[in-house]
Amino acid sequence: MWFRRDLRLHDNPALNAAIQTGAPVVCLYILETDSTLRPMGGASQWWLDKSLKRLRESIEDIGGQLLFKRGLARETLDEIVSQTGANAVFWNRRYDQAGRDIDSDIKQSLKQQGLGAESYNGSLLTEPWTQKTGSGGYYKVFTPYWKSVQANYQPSAELGAPTQLKSVPKIETENIEDWGLHPTKPDWSTEFGPKWLPGEEGAAQRLQAFISGPVSEYKDHRNRPDLEKGTSGLSPHLAFGEIGPAQIWRATQAKIEAGNANQANAMTFLSEVVWREFSYVLLYHNPELATENYKPAFNAMPWREDEVGLKAWQQGQTGYPIVDAGMRQLWAIGWMHNRVRMIVASFLTKHLLLHWSHGEDWFWDTLVDADPAANSASWQWTAGSGADAAPYFRVFNPITQGEKFDESGDYVREWCPEL
Ligand code: FAD
Repeated sequence: MWFRRDLRLHDNPALNAAIQTGAPVVCLYILETDSTLRPMGGASQWWLDKSLKRLRESIEDIGGQLLFKRGLARETLDEIVSQTGANAVFWNRRYDQAGRDIDSDIKQSLKQQGLGAESYNGSLLTEPWTQKTGSGGYYKVFTPYWKSVQANYQPSAELGAPTQLKSVPKIETENIEDWGLHPTKPDWSTEFGPKWLPGEEGAAQRLQAFISGPVSEYKDHRNRPDLEKGTSGLSPHLAFGEIGPAQIWRATQAKIEAGNANQANAMTFLSEVVWREFSYVLLYHNPELATENYKPAFNAMPWREDEVGLKAWQQGQTGYPIVDAGMRQLWAIGWMHNRVRMIVASFLTKHLLLHWSHGEDWFWDTLVDADPAANSASWQWTAGSGADAAPYFRVFNPITQGEKFDESGDYVREWCPEL
C-alpha cells in the first residue's frame, strides 16, 4: 500500500483493496524526489511530519509497520517490491499532471513485470472526468457543476478502518526525523502546534465538532473571520487525505436526515466542499493552472514589478488593517480565513497590480492546506484570469470589507495588536 495524500485508515479504498487480497500488507510512504513534482511548501512539510507520525502510530497499533523511504517513486517501489516479494501495489489517485505521469509510468512498468497495479479514488466525491455538460465537455461554471454533483453523486457505503494488519517481517526504514520536515533554523512554526492536531483523529474531531452545531449557522457565519467556529477548519486534513470528502458528505447528510442540522446551511457547507472538487476539474483539464492564465487574454496584462510592495504584503505591513491581519494570521498559524484570502488576493493583484503567481507561490509555501487545485484555481478566480472568475473590474475594497465582515474589529485586533 503506497500512501500519498491519503494519510488515513478509515474509508481508504486503496488500503481496503490491499487488505481484501488476504495477503500481508506492506505500508509505504515515499518522500518523492522526482524533479517534475512541485516541492512541498514549508508549512505543508510541517503538517506532513506530524501526520506521518500519527499514521505510523495507528499502523503499529494494529500490528503493521509504516515504511519511510526517500527517492524516485518508481525506483523506490521496485526496490520494496523486490525486497518483499509483493505481487501488487495499491494507491489512491492524484490529479496533477506531473503526479499522473509518474503514476502511469509506474503502472505500466509494474504490469510489464507481471505485477498488479491498482489505483482508486480516495480524495474526491466524483473524479474530474465524470461530470459532463450537455455537450460532453467539462464544467467551467460552478453552479451547474454543483447541480450535476447533487443529481449524480451517490456515496458508497463507508469502508471501516482495519483492526488488524497481516504484516510482513520488519523491513529497514528511513528515520522520518532525518527528513528535516519540521523547521529548525529558525522554528517559525511555534503557533501551529496549539492550533492544529494533524492526523486522522484530529480530522474526525473537527468534523464532529463542526457538524454537531456550527454547521447550522454556516451561511451567516462563514464570512466572519472573527468567529473561531464559523467554518470547519477541515482544509489541511482534506489536503493530506486524513479525511475524505465522502466521509464529510455522509456525516453531514446523516445529521440533516436525523433533523440535527439545518438543511439549507448544511448544504451550503457541502457546496463549498464541492468547490474543492470543481478546482480539481479545472486542474485536471488545464494542467498548467498553477502557472498559466486560464483566460489567455490575461497574457497581455501589464503587471507591475514591485519588490517592496510584495514584501510588505507578505509580511502584513501594507497599512491596510484587514490585509495585514490576514497575512499575519497566515504566517502565524499556516491558515487564513477564506473571506480574508479573497481580500488579500484582490489587494495583491488589483491594488498592487502584481502577478497572481507571486501570491500563489507565497500561499503554496505558507499554507498548511496548500492544495495544487484549490490554490491555483482560487488565485486565478480572484485575479480574474480564471474560470467563472470575479471580473477584473471587481476590486474588493479592503476598508468596507473589514467594516462588513469584521464589524467589531476583533479579527484585526487579534493579528495587529498595535491597532
Ligand atoms: P470550510 O468553509 O469549512 O469549507 C469546507 C471545505 O470546503 C474546506 O476545507 C475546503 O476543502 C473546501 N473549500 C471551501 N471553500 C473553498 C474554495 N473557495 N475553493 C476550494 N475549496 C473550498 N483551499 C485549500 O484547501 N487549499 C488552498 O491552497 C487554497 N488556496 C486558496 C487561495 C485563495 C486566494 C483563496 C481565495 C482561497 C483558497 N482556498 C484554498 C479556498 C478556501 O479559502 C479554503 O479551502 C478555506 O478557507 C478552508 O477553510 P475551512 O476548512 O474552514 O473551510
